[in-house]
Amino acid sequence: MKKDHIFEFFRRLAEANPAPETELAFGNTYQLLVAVTISAQATDVGVNKATKRLFAQVTTPAQMVALGEEALKEHIKSIGLFNTKAKNVIALSEMLVRDHGGEVPADRDALTALPGVGRKTANVVLNTAFGMETFAVDTHIFRVGNRTGLAKGKTPEAVEAQLDKKVPAPFRLGAHHWLILHGRYVCKARTPECWRCTVVDLCGFKGKVLEKGAKPATTPKTRATSRKGDARARSQAGKPAARPEGEPS
Ligand code: SF4
Repeated sequence: MKKDHIFEFFRRLAEANPAPETELAFGNTYQLLVAVTISAQATDVGVNKATKRLFAQVTTPAQMVALGEEALKEHIKSIGLFNTKAKNVIALSEMLVRDHGGEVPADRDALTALPGVGRKTANVVLNTAFGMETFAVDTHIFRVGNRTGLAKGKTPEAVEAQLDKKVPAPFRLGAHHWLILHGRYVCKARTPECWRCTVVDLCGFKGKVLEKGAKPATTPKTRATSRKGDARARSQAGKPAARPEGEPS
């Protein structure tokens, strides 16, 4: 995608949603870290349901450690892989208390050293809580980047590097949210809703669905490639390769 088209792409997404935010509910940076860590194989709505009572009770790593693994499991048992996630959340909370004075570090290496925290989760926290211009490549961003031609790459790291290189100011801070929301609600995995897409004329995807109800022209090869990328994204984020978070079924 050409440089001026990239600027226009984000200008339009920004115009439609000037203040993009994560759809995960949280009250502080620690709660955001926990919510993102347990969000694999769950929708944001599902995570928010599970954390509503938990976050009313637990606001710090020390409180989470005091709550304990078994009680945490009870809170998040509606979410896939809750046993592993509970174990990781307790372990990362212990590490935050022991090594970081109970604070969430604003540093990617320190974040990814925490149990269950991959590069994607770290980038979400750095962007959302610390206002850093990071690009957390999840399944939606991986798909939108490759489909549109905005940021092509075979791995999440490659797409992230392309975004870092190409996304212009003043859109760098919000780019991650705009792309996720665009992928989640318009540029959907199975049937992109190109007929109502605000960037349809800028997008380089050859299989556009320009009429509501029409069948997607996406080839099986493209879908398989996308799934491989999704699997890689989740694997490298320390997450399972099954149905991705928020992916339309
Ligand atoms: S035109 Fe279609 S494929 Fe391109 S970004 Fe919009 S929804 Fe996605």
